[in-house]
Order: sequence, then C-alpha cells, then structure tokens
Amino acid sequence: MSKFFTSRYQALTPYTPGEQPRDMQYIKLNTNESPFAPSKKAIEAAARAAERLQLYPDPTYKALHETLAAYHGVTSDMVLATNGSDEILNFAFMAFCDAESPALFADITYGFYSVFASLNHVPYTEIPLKSDFSLSVDDYIGRKGTVFIANPNAPTGLALPLSEIERLLAADRERVVVIDEAYVDFGTESAVSLLERYDNLLVTRTFSKSRSMAGARLGYGIGSPALIADLNTIKYSTNPYNVNSMSAAAGLGVMADEAYTVFCCKEIMETRVYAMTGLKKLGFEMTDAKGNFLFVRHPKMGGEAIYLALKQRGILVRHFDRAPIADYNRITVGTRADMQTLIDTLADILKES
Ligand code: PMP
Repeated sequence: MSKFFTSRYQALTPYTPGEQPRDMQYIKLNTNESPFAPSKKAIEAAARAAERLQLYPDPTYKALHETLAAYHGVTSDMVLATNGSDEILNFAFMAFCDAESPALFADITYGFYSVFASLNHVPYTEIPLKSDFSLSVDDYIGRKGTVFIANPNAPTGLALPLSEIERLLAADRERVVVIDEAYVDFGTESAVSLLERYDNLLVTRTFSKSRSMAGARLGYGIGSPALIADLNTIKYSTNPYNVNSMSAAAGLGVMADEAYTVFCCKEIMETRVYAMTGLKKLGFEMTDAKGNFLFVRHPKMGGEAIYLALKQRGILVRHFDRAPIADYNRITVGTRADMQTLIDTLADILKES
C-alpha cells in the first residue's frame, strides 16, 4: 500500500477472482464460464462494431435496451445494461443501501456482495443459510435492509422457488430486493414475471454464463422505471459509456440467436446430470445443482486435497477455504468430454488416496 492510498479504502479486502493461470493448459472448471464459443452472430456483430471504434457508443444503448426489454416483456425504461452484472450489483449497493437500509445477504453466497458493501461503506449483515445450505426468506422478513439473493445461489447451486421470492417482496414493499439471476437460464424460474406487481424488485442478469460472453463483460438490470432511473443516476455519475461498442453489439448479436443459447443451456443441463451421476457413483455428495456448476464433497477426502490433486493433473476447480464449505469444491459444468476426464481423474485420485 502506498502512503497516498486514502484511509477510506485502506481496510478494503478486494474480491479474489478465480485463478486464470497461464503456466499450462488446464481444463478450466473454476470460474463458471461456458464451455461453448460465443454465437457466431455475436462475433460478427462485435467485428462490425470494431470498425467504428473511433466513436463513443450510444450512452443510452437504445437498441440493446429495446431488445432486452422485448425479450423480457417489459418496457425499455425498465432495463439498464452494464459492464458485467458485477457493475449493476455495485450500482445497486451504491443506490439502495446506506446506514438506514443496510445490505442483507446470505453468509454463503457470491463473495462480491460483501466487497461491494465495504467499498461503498454500507453496513451489512450476513444471514446464515441452514445447515443444508437452503435459504429461508423468513430470516429476512421483519429485518430492515436491502436484500441481495443470488438465485440460484453460488457456490451452493440451490434455487429458491418464485413463491418464496414473492413472499419476501410482499412482506415489505418499502425495501428493495435484488435477485441476482446470473445462473437462472440453467433451469430456474425467473423473478422477472414478478416485476409487474412489485416495484421494489431489481433482477440482475449476465451474458457471461448462458450466453458464452464472459470476456465481453455484459450484464443488465431489470426493475421498475423508478429504480432504473436511480441506477442511471449512478451510471451517468461514473461512466456514461459503461458498455463498450463491441460488447453492446455482441449482446445484440447473441440476442438474435436465441436458438443457440437454448441449445447451449440444454447441453449444459444434460451434462450436469451426467456429471452428477458419475460423481455420485464415486461416492461424492452434492447439492441439487441448478446452475452451470456442481458443489460437491467426498466423505473420504478433504476439499483442499481434492482441489490440489486435480490441479496437479491439469483440472482447475474452485475451492473456498472457509468453514463450513472447506470440504466442498465448486466445479463448473464443461463439455461432456471435460466431465468424463474429471470423473476418470477423480476415480484415480480416490484410488490413490
Ligand atoms: N452473480 C453471481 C452469483 C456470480 O457468480 C457472478 C460471476 N462470477 C456474477 C454475478 C458476475 O458476473 P458478471 O460480472 O460476469 O456478469
């Protein structure tokens, strides 16, 4: 730390992204990326946009907002595109949390929530999940604060039914509930349908997972026009051109290729079942995975030991070295071949241990 670093941020512990090592060719199952290439339409659109990079993007992202609005059956003043969904989440912490409305989120969830809270000097409470990692909305009802729920949750992979989200929204219409739907396309019901009844709901989405565009950094929020106006105030106070032209164009490209997204999601959901079956045969225990990742442990071998043994053999998974999930690893669902290699490698590791 330099002597110039403001005292405002000296205590900040930044988010640790999943490792992206370059020392060898790994099978990368550690950051929940898609194993599939982006849509050809996305690639072509990005290439065309690159020819006009001398110009700033349209800061209103009219075409993208209209396309996303049509996709979700809402009006375009209910959508805001951002630089990954991380950015809309940060905007939500900036816009909707303060000492009167502290942030509330699960103790085991997306690790960036606590970082965004700290960055923005927002008080927060981490509410414990149950021992089976399920989330009870009753733990949030009657508590003051802005709620952040990843649905499905990461890294546990568990999803909440829509009826529970609605119960949470209806219990207190005077606070914002943010539902982070980064992994919703892999078989969970979206909360977007609740937007017509609840103006205290913000849904966040990403192109990073189901749309194979993690490198493009494209996400968005969907909420009432008033919530989106607040988030626009933050956006225009930080970076009006928050999405670069190539990513905005690629977003439009993939939205015009819905069949490809549907195909990729179906493949991943089928491969998820295949991988779960194979790992169960090896004695692994796991949650009911609803994202593009599994959350697994083995009764005979610790989580870190499995992570290290896999890494040594060229397979990267994500290990969180903290109670009560230190026995677990989060494993991205890759291609079927990736999953077969994973299963075979784990069988060897278990045999040797
Ligand atoms: N929410 C959750 C639950 C995530 O796991 C991630 C990605 N790791 C994000 C949001 C952010 O994704 P992105 O910024 O790539 O849209």
